[in-house]
Amino acid sequence: MSTNQKINGPRLWDSLMAMAEIGATPKGGVKRITLTEVDKAGRERFTAWCEALGLTVRVDAMGNMFARREGRDPTRLPVLFGSHLDSQPTGGKFDGALGVIAGLEVMRSLNDLGITTEAPLELVNWTDEEGSRFGHSLMGSGVWAGIFGLDEAYGFTDIEGATVGDALDAIGYKGPHPAAPFPADAYFELHIEQGPILEREGKQIGIVTSAQAQVWYDAVITGQDSHAGTTPPSARRDALVAASRVIAHVDDLMRARGEDGRGTVGQLQVLPNSRNVVPGEVRFSVEFRHPENAQVQGIMQGFPAEARALVEKNGCRLDLTELFYIPAQPFDAECVDLVRQAAARLGYPAREIISGAGHDAVYVARRVPTAMIFTPCKDGLSHNEAESILPEEAEAGCQVLFEAVVARANRAS
Ligand SMILES: [Zn+2]
Repeated sequence: MSTNQKINGPRLWDSLMAMAEIGATPKGGVKRITLTEVDKAGRERFTAWCEALGLTVRVDAMGNMFARREGRDPTRLPVLFGSHLDSQPTGGKFDGALGVIAGLEVMRSLNDLGITTEAPLELVNWTDEEGSRFGHSLMGSGVWAGIFGLDEAYGFTDIEGATVGDALDAIGYKGPHPAAPFPADAYFELHIEQGPILEREGKQIGIVTSAQAQVWYDAVITGQDSHAGTTPPSARRDALVAASRVIAHVDDLMRARGEDGRGTVGQLQVLPNSRNVVPGEVRFSVEFRHPENAQVQGIMQGFPAEARALVEKNGCRLDLTELFYIPAQPFDAECVDLVRQAAARLGYPAREIISGAGHDAVYVARRVPTAMIFTPCKDGLSHNEAESILPEEAEAGCQVLFEAVVARANRAS
């Protein structure tokens, strides 16, 4: 394909900024929490933009939205691309929105250029990628791919007791189409990296080859509350000291695996949380990630017993619950190659990269050949109101998306 078929960078940026007005926060971020009135407003603007292009928008029973552009050959399966419009409570303008709005720009550019692809195209907005309201990230794509049952997902509740099913009804987005995988030719997702690697190396495009394996735990350490002034060392069962040994061990396990290791305790609750009481209970999260399944599985085999031994040495008890394990997800070699070729043809500095975060693409990849494109973000910062990218980075990512999608949709069948 010739590279004189350019997407419209300023128009892409204008629409990114227009979407960021919906749920805009005073600090320059976005609060567009899933299945709220703000999310509904974002969906309505998205629908209006799509319909203005002549696309047909359908909504499935999970609120996932698919905007379809017909191809020349009605027998061909659609090429899908998109991301998510929901955000964290203190989210940025680009996490998710970039992939959806860039997809919109692909559709607009095809109209402008008078291009009809062989295969039909569908631009997707997945419901509740973030998981911040109902506690299950990648929910819409997860139901679509069969990871969660529809009724199971309808029953997930938020902190006020509202269910996903109620929330979908409340905003009118429990659609008539089944939330189930349909045959599709490919899925492409453009997303900000949410990490520092591309920026650090001066690369404009990340060719995402896979997503890493991860395991999540909930830990509860039980000791005994006692008086800070009167309890001597021999009588202490300090749950926080025991937790600190486990936290240090999580960090050790990560660092033992070099720059590819990840191990985090990001949430900690100390009870009774009083300065003159030896803490009797600590609740905390643990997660490990690595590009190789074997590394995460090795941790899963060793960590529970190692943590228990550390806790018992401090006179306490450990209850460890494994929440989930997601194996590493390699992306489709042919789709990844289309991204690689597009970046090379366009002359963008690019490198292969492994996704450190979960994305809708990880679940979609279980059903449809999938690839992802990353663009840099300032200081690698995301899930933060200060999340920032440059217009030329958005444009470059969108141009690669355009070329990969068109190449796939026009490939010899
Ligand atoms: Zn995202």
